Amino acid sequence: MIRIKKQYFLLIICLVFFTGCHNRPVDEPSINTDVEETTLITQENSYISIGEEFHLPILAFHHIANAPAGASANTRQWYISTERFEEILKLLQEQEYTVLFATEAVTLIKEGHLSEKPVIITFDDGAVDFYTNAYPLLKKYNIKATVHLMSGVKSKAWLNETQIKEMNGSGVVEFQSHTQYHEYLTRVDKEDVRRELGNSKKQIEKLTGDPVTVIAYPFGLYNDEVIEVARELGYEAGFTIDRKTNQKIDNLFQLHRVIITEQTNVEKIITIDDKQ
Ligand SMILES: [Zn+2]
Repeated sequence: MIRIKKQYFLLIICLVFFTGCHNRPVDEPSINTDVEETTLITQENSYISIGEEFHLPILAFHHIANAPAGASANTRQWYISTERFEEILKLLQEQEYTVLFATEAVTLIKEGHLSEKPVIITFDDGAVDFYTNAYPLLKKYNIKATVHLMSGVKSKAWLNETQIKEMNGSGVVEFQSHTQYHEYLTRVDKEDVRRELGNSKKQIEKLTGDPVTVIAYPFGLYNDEVIEVARELGYEAGFTIDRKTNQKIDNLFQLHRVIITEQTNVEKIITIDDKQ
């Protein structure tokens, strides 16, 4: 009898403090159960309910630095000056965009709502200039970015473990996967896909202590098999590169990203709705 009573007691406690039992993202205020949830989402907390298709610009960066002298046009496209990057951050701040971590956005999408004017800033590869040039600006403006690391590639050109740990604790940077060795996932066999996705997930989780649930496909390349393996391994979303900003809720493994170059009109990218 006593045991049953205890169970009821725990159930009641859990119901009373329902919001506390639910693992909500850091930025999301707890919900007052006296008020209808949709009212809270749309009016008080600047969250919007999303339908099957929604506008979520995901910006993809690589290097924040001047391109090396004599670099080809092809190489230059991966470089953005610190001045231009700061202009972009100012624009996002002035126009009151809500810059979310990739993992935060995925959680909100799964719950059926998003912050108003959402944007995700992503960096692929984990170049060391992220630490020296981008990170100080992200801290200055208190704007978040998600860095997708190649967990197996190590040299002075790439972020080291000390830098990653420092930034991970800052509140403005999270680390997710860009595979282990930057393979063409659509050209290797399934076991290699599993190794690339699985090992990078484990290695980055061990380093940061945080779950790795979002993969940025190297070269933006993926297929059904890649998605199947990613799902099996516990990933929840995948980032492509295909110059669109509208996303579909039923396909979190094909979230579109736009590569930002020095010349990209970012204001247009974040404003434009592909359906218009
Ligand atoms: Zn890459």
